[in-house]
This record gives sequence, structure tokens and C-alpha cells, in this order.
Amino acid sequence: MNYYTKTVARLIDQFSKLPGIGPKTAQRLAFYLLVAPPEVAASLANAIAEARTTVRYCQVCGNFTEGDRCFICSDDRRSTDIICVVERPRDIVAMEKTKGFRGLYHVLHGVISPMEGVGPGQLRIKELIRRLEGASVKEIILATNPSVEGDATALYLAGLINPMGIRVTRLAHGLPVGADLEYADQITLSKALEGRREIK
Ligand SMILES: [Zn+2]
Repeated sequence: MNYYTKTVARLIDQFSKLPGIGPKTAQRLAFYLLVAPPEVAASLANAIAEARTTVRYCQVCGNFTEGDRCFICSDDRRSTDIICVVERPRDIVAMEKTKGFRGLYHVLHGVISPMEGVGPGQLRIKELIRRLEGASVKEIILATNPSVEGDATALYLAGLINPMGIRVTRLAHGLPVGADLEYADQITLSKALEGRREIK
């Protein structure tokens, strides 16, 4: 049974492909856009198209940026001798909200996950090692999520970085196991940062 016209069905289908959007929400969004003033839909379409064409990865850390370097890498008040390694750009937002970290970041854009066919080669690990070779970094904080994949990725990175004579630490537990940094509250994440431990 086809309840919608082809175009409406396509719009609903597009929304339902977005993370966290189920069929009901997709239908609600589509119907809202169909009755809202035309400029609402136009400005949403523009915002998506513009973000997609202007936003890219920072050449240094992999965060989102509109220039060559993100706002963190271009801020010369940040300490350059400590780098926090995270899975996704959104984790930088979570860490920044704690206001407890003044160093730089490195985004892996994923974690090692044999189940999903993601190996070290698909992550920005080479870029991290190259970055460490050319700089005087004293500490690397491994802030991948406290999941099986996040822990395995942290161990893998520690194995590569420890021999370079750089201190490697991991966020303290206290973060719920299997949780996302993104959803941790600021106090929990601040405590995890303060209580980070060295990995040998
Ligand atoms: Zn950057």
C-alpha cells in the first residue's frame, strides 16, 4: 500500500536514513517541511549543501574545519606537548566542554574493529605517528571510548607510541563501560581526565 506520493516517500526515506531518526520521526519531519513556509525547507537544504562543501578535515588533527587548520590547532595558547587521541570530532566537543584540557587533539575517525572490517590502516594512525615524529610531544592521552574496540585501539596505539619515549595515558575508568564520550556528563569526563593512568 502506497500512502505517499513518490516525492514525499523519497523525502521520508532520506530522513529515515539519518542516525537516530525512526520512520515516525522521518514522516513528521517531512510533513513539517511540506506545510512550513517554503524558505524553511530552502534554508535547510542550503545549510546542508553549504556545510557539506565547505567543511573538511583539519590537515593537522582531523577535526572539522573550514580552513586548513581547525580553531584548536590554530590557537597558539594551547599546549603543543600533549595530544588527546579521540575517535570522532564530536568527542573533541565533549572534551572541550570539560574545560580541563588545553592541549591538542588527534582524531582517528573510528576504532579498530575486526567485526566491522576496520583495521589500523583505515584510521588516521599513520598521520598520528608522523605528527609525533616531527614534534616534541611529552604525553599522549588515549581517549577512545571505554568499549572493547576503544580499549583494543588504545592498546594498539600504546604499543606504537611507548617505544618513541612518549608518556602514554588512558582516561580513568569511571566512564561507564561501553559508553560514548559524547554522552558522558562533564563532571565524569573531567574526573576521567584528571585520573588518567599511564599505559606501559
Ligand atoms: Zn586541528
